[in-house]
Amino acid sequence: MTYNLPTKKGYFGSFGGKFVPEILIPVLEELEKAYDSAWKDEAFRNDYLDLLDDYVGRPTKLTHANRLSEYYGKAKIYLKREDLCHTGAHKINNAIGQILLARRMGKQRIIAETGAGQHGVATATACAKFGVDCIVYMGTEDMERQKLNVERMQLLGAEVRPVESGSKTLKDATNEAIRDWVTNVEDTFYIIGSAVGPHPYPMMVRNFQRIIGDETRRQLMEAEGEGTLPDYLLACVGGGSNAIGIFYPFIDDESVRMYGLEAAGLGADTDQTAATLTIGRPGVLHGSLSYLLHNKEGQIQLAHSISAGLDYPGIGPEHAYLQDSARVTYAPITDEQAMEGVKLLSELEGIIPALETAHAIAYLEELMPRTREGEIVVLNCSGRGDKDMGTISEYI
Ligand SMILES: *Cc1c(COP(=O)(O)O)cnc(C)c1O
Repeated sequence: MTYNLPTKKGYFGSFGGKFVPEILIPVLEELEKAYDSAWKDEAFRNDYLDLLDDYVGRPTKLTHANRLSEYYGKAKIYLKREDLCHTGAHKINNAIGQILLARRMGKQRIIAETGAGQHGVATATACAKFGVDCIVYMGTEDMERQKLNVERMQLLGAEVRPVESGSKTLKDATNEAIRDWVTNVEDTFYIIGSAVGPHPYPMMVRNFQRIIGDETRRQLMEAEGEGTLPDYLLACVGGGSNAIGIFYPFIDDESVRMYGLEAAGLGADTDQTAATLTIGRPGVLHGSLSYLLHNKEGQIQLAHSISAGLDYPGIGPEHAYLQDSARVTYAPITDEQAMEGVKLLSELEGIIPALETAHAIAYLEELMPRTREGEIVVLNCSGRGDKDMGTISEYI
């Protein structure tokens, strides 16, 4: 590969880095060393791949969406079925990778923070599988909104610690998790759920999610013939882990056009939005420099999206770089458009997608008329919609 970011210091262009309290610098360096040696170790990789196979259910299918393709009458559309993973989305790929690393480092206590609860559930699942202690920080406002996920985590044996400070949401839970980590670095491993956070997390999460793109590459050639590459890749972006997972193995293939779809909420020109790449400005959140939503006073603006998993005021630093370097095109999709996407895939393919995924589906309206017969679109179906039925029914 010629694309070889991040740099040693953890930068993607001017984005990324390690903006953390001094005391955590040696901890991040220890993590980086452990990760590098693990990733080079065939035994570690085999453990990780065996678990993905045996427990997560990989490889996930690459399904030809024939009715959806016919509906547009242009390029052929394939769906990469991360919705078929154990727990219903791609997040488990990363949780398994990080817990294996924690075990290799001899850390017996896992902490995480969660907003909507999906990363909390993936982490609690992996911890149950390995029999390690799991503490999940969650804002009380989020706990109220996502009761079912709180109950899932508890059923899986995790302790959910309520966070009462600030806006009682994700960023406050993140602050508490970092505080815990600073205090308990000896025995504690902090599992971050998206391609965000201080170096080496964005790189590590990307590499644990690149399995999505690696499988896509192989499966598409099996289906369409040796040498076939997708013409278009589509994925939704919250923090950016499912998107970078499918994009990364294709970054050097210039013919592959990539689109990241972010949540515009009620509109990128309103304050009820999560369209970080469209309207954000550079700033530091969660330990790295990237685009952020700010309010008029320069404080971090709370994000809004109908999909809990995209409701994040930041974005992984690699996506900030990929936007600035114009390798990937990012576009905002509103709540309303996403809801149309849910209906379309449900009716035409018998697949109820997650609301996050629906943002990528909605973009087909714009993309497909520009495509030609004979071209191939692969859309990353990041998760299933069962979890969103309450929100979907309410909206309809
Ligand atoms: C969490 C989640 C997302 C958003 O997270 P990324 O890190 O941007 O992938 C997207 N889809 C589903 C189904 C999710 O659970």
